[in-house]
Amino acid sequence: MTPSGAEFVRQIKGQIAEVDPAQVHDVLWNEDVVLVDVRESDEVAAGKLPGAVHVPRGFLESRIDGAVGDRSKRVVLYCASGNRSALAARTLTEDLGYERVESMTGGYTLWKDRGYEVDVPRTLTAEQRERYSRHILINEVGLEGQIKLIDAKVLLIGAGALGSPNALYLAAAGVGTIGIVDDDVVDLSNLQRQVVHGTATIGVPKVESAATRINDLNPDVTVVQHKGRLDADSVLELFRAYDVIVDGTDNFPTRYLINDAAVRLNKPVVSAAILGFEAQLSVFDTSQDGPCYRCLFPVPPPAELAPSCGANGVLGVLPGTAGLLQATEVIKLIIGVGDSLRGRLLMYDALAAEFNEVKVRKDPECPVCSRDRASISDEEMGVFPDYEAFCAAAG
Ligand SMILES: [Zn+2]
Repeated sequence: MTPSGAEFVRQIKGQIAEVDPAQVHDVLWNEDVVLVDVRESDEVAAGKLPGAVHVPRGFLESRIDGAVGDRSKRVVLYCASGNRSALAARTLTEDLGYERVESMTGGYTLWKDRGYEVDVPRTLTAEQRERYSRHILINEVGLEGQIKLIDAKVLLIGAGALGSPNALYLAAAGVGTIGIVDDDVVDLSNLQRQVVHGTATIGVPKVESAATRINDLNPDVTVVQHKGRLDADSVLELFRAYDVIVDGTDNFPTRYLINDAAVRLNKPVVSAAILGFEAQLSVFDTSQDGPCYRCLFPVPPPAELAPSCGANGVLGVLPGTAGLLQATEVIKLIIGVGDSLRGRLLMYDALAAEFNEVKVRKDPECPVCSRDRASISDEEMGVFPDYEAFCAAAG
């Protein structure tokens, strides 16, 4: 007589080895044991055993080789209650030649009831899935990359011409925390290039104006407003809270302060400068053994060679182009893809419509990045030179 489904499962359980969750818990992080979760994806999304690999039962035969190549290895299978994993255990043993297969009794339900630890995989809300769907579709970003963006903290120094495109596109990309340092208010003459602001926010502090626009573009983003100038007293504490620093300043004293503080903390700086019809960009990342800003410019150029945009004017789209190249580098750093501009200075000539680049080498004599970090005392750590005087002397 043909057995009922329930009887069949009972018979199978008599033919395979079963193991209690307590015994599985004892070998949780043991590399000689492979835990295989045979449930469906939506069940796994709610939580799984730490370290378990996911091979849905429907794909068991076709995917188990990828998960467990060595058939002599101890394999513990589990499902929600212990039935599907029992059937899967029989398949692995009888049909596929695995030598040491067990099915966990009571499955994930019993494991959880016993109070053992579980891993709840990160997921996105339905709204986030829709908002970031074009990112998730790209292999290089995907769900994992999008989660990295959401977890990332980026500090923009300056909410002006370079800061604007960075603020807008990093917010749109879903960077979860964007800090903005700026002490200025929005002026009508800014709007030719500082597109994060608008006519409605003329007279409003730039950090506030930018935060309003970002919150409208993407309410997922936490904007931290640092209203004021970047100064030597607070720079280290400020930088510590962020993963990537975006240099959007237009003055040399601040650039050197950003560099020296970032080098001390080993934080990457995505830097851009614009002048006339030309833009220059680089990534200074000493955590990856790259050069720093001082390796490239040990001293600032004389003032007549580096006039500020305020005094000399700038084509409004140029900081847009440069800022978007910066934002692209920031995103690449966060998700860890591609070749960054570390050790390279990219130059864009807008009039000629040409890109060129030169190598930037780490200067073994660099007074900042060549120093052994361990040799910097705690007191010395927070002390920075007088950059105004340093730049004035160079000029
Ligand atoms: Zn250096």
